[in-house]
Amino acid sequence: MAANTPKVADNMVVTFEYKLFADGELFLEEGQDGEYAEAYYLHGAGMILPGLEEALAGKSVGDQLTVSLAAEDAYGEYDETAIESLDRADIPDADQLEAGMEIELEDDEGFIDVAFVKEVTPDAIILDFNEPLAGKALKYEIRVTGVRPANEDEIAHGHPHGEYGDEYDEEDEE
Ligand SMILES: [Zn+2]
Repeated sequence: MAANTPKVADNMVVTFEYKLFADGELFLEEGQDGEYAEAYYLHGAGMILPGLEEALAGKSVGDQLTVSLAAEDAYGEYDETAIESLDRADIPDADQLEAGMEIELEDDEGFIDVAFVKEVTPDAIILDFNEPLAGKALKYEIRVTGVRPANEDEIAHGHPHGEYGDEYDEEDEE
């Protein structure tokens, strides 16, 4: 391998494919069609879990790695108090809700909160405000597919641009 192969370090834009296992089971994001998902991030910008970033440092294209993270190093412990039971009558689309669905709720101040429907009973909708991966030990099987130096704009913005990066600038413009 050439001596100047770019390695993952601060201010490098990294692309990788990964398969995620949560408590040993393959975890697919909503809308994910294959077993492998692709991620694209600016190293050192805090865009991904710190444990993942640490494990990727020093890697280059073609490297494969397995990263295991305890729940506390990933999305945190499961919070039993983040469960809320709401009266069906207070939820406009209550009849269309099923366990496992993700819904967005707006509070009195206009903030949007995402919750998962944990259970539907004749009188109530029970919502879970935990992250879907909270309380789970994660294992990532990773293959590094791209490493390149970030440009000045990317470093200034704290995220990558280009092929997959446009979504970030839509956020910037809001
Ligand atoms: Zn940007």
